Amino acid sequence: MSDSKKIAVVGGDGIGPEVIAEGLRVLDALTPEYDLEHFDLGADRYLRDGTTMPSEVMERWRDEFDAIFLGALGDPRVPSNVHAKEILLGARFQLDLYINLRPIRLLDPSKCPLKDKGCEDVNFVVFRENTEGLYTGIGGQFKRGTLDEVAIEQEMNTRKGVERIIRAAFEYADLHGHTKMCMADKANAMRHGHDLWQRVYKMVAAEYPNIESKHLYVDVLTMEMVRCPEQFEVVVTNNLFGDIVTDLGAILQGGIGLAGSGNINPGTVSLFEPVHGSAPDIVGQEKANPLAAILSLGMMYTHLGRPDLESKISVAVRHCLEHNLVTPELGGTLKTSEVTDEVLRLLAL
Ligand code: ATP
Repeated sequence: MSDSKKIAVVGGDGIGPEVIAEGLRVLDALTPEYDLEHFDLGADRYLRDGTTMPSEVMERWRDEFDAIFLGALGDPRVPSNVHAKEILLGARFQLDLYINLRPIRLLDPSKCPLKDKGCEDVNFVVFRENTEGLYTGIGGQFKRGTLDEVAIEQEMNTRKGVERIIRAAFEYADLHGHTKMCMADKANAMRHGHDLWQRVYKMVAAEYPNIESKHLYVDVLTMEMVRCPEQFEVVVTNNLFGDIVTDLGAILQGGIGLAGSGNINPGTVSLFEPVHGSAPDIVGQEKANPLAAILSLGMMYTHLGRPDLESKISVAVRHCLEHNLVTPELGGTLKTSEVTDEVLRLLAL
């Protein structure tokens, strides 16, 4: 099965290059035939020559690559974060990566902050809409900096955008034998956009009679994720709410250093990245946990048709967690590269 793929690699800022380097060690071990190309994008490049995201790079990603593997973007030297917005939001919007897929999977019960919850209790996926909602930047400021200032941020919901993320969630559930779907919105307060979500959800749910589809307001969802996470199998929600509830989910699964994600368009190149940011406080200290990047690589493999490799990675990561072969933020004593050494040792068995 030596099916080569072309992967664009962006280490980015802070600990991004550190964790991506570890992910690439795993990639080299599992699929040495993959063709990698590194892109020098991030705060250093921006500060050097003003480049954020060249349009020809975006075109090349779209036309030539199978996947993008990204570290993190964000640097205190660029307070506006303009480079991060243009690279990451640029990729999401221009490559139309409309699914933000975030598995919330506890791999070791000792890492869960909830009392008496095991791996079987915290095991669901969130489909977050990734191209619309409140993150399009539509809006404006009027009389900025005065006491009469008005700031408007508009939430965009299109029929096409809402339908395709809801359909993607149901298709995923159907394909993976899940029987429980939950859509979260705030239709009681946001009467226009979220009414659209309600109607489209009911319409698509009717096509999947074998999947029990329920709805929760997002505030209730956050409570229920803590009270009874075992009730969830697949959750679908909008851009803003998905951003927030998946960070809550990251803590339930053991912390931000264990959360991977995919920015996916099923028909084209997709982008995989750890959920955590650039963590400037621990750069260069060998403290960065590489497991979120390695788990994101696993998601990339599944997307590229190799779910067997994601399973292998999950088994190795679970072993590291169970034996406390982890970085200090999870209570371990290993350095970044030593965690990967363990993962590689287990993959070789
Ligand atoms: P950004 O602004 O780019 O999102 P941030 O530092 O504000 O970056 P995160 O990087 O997501 O936000 O995480 C907050 C804190 O969690 C970090 O300051 C760091 O101490 C810790 N952290 C994040 N990722 C990791 C990791 N992979 N390994 C260890 N600790 C981490």
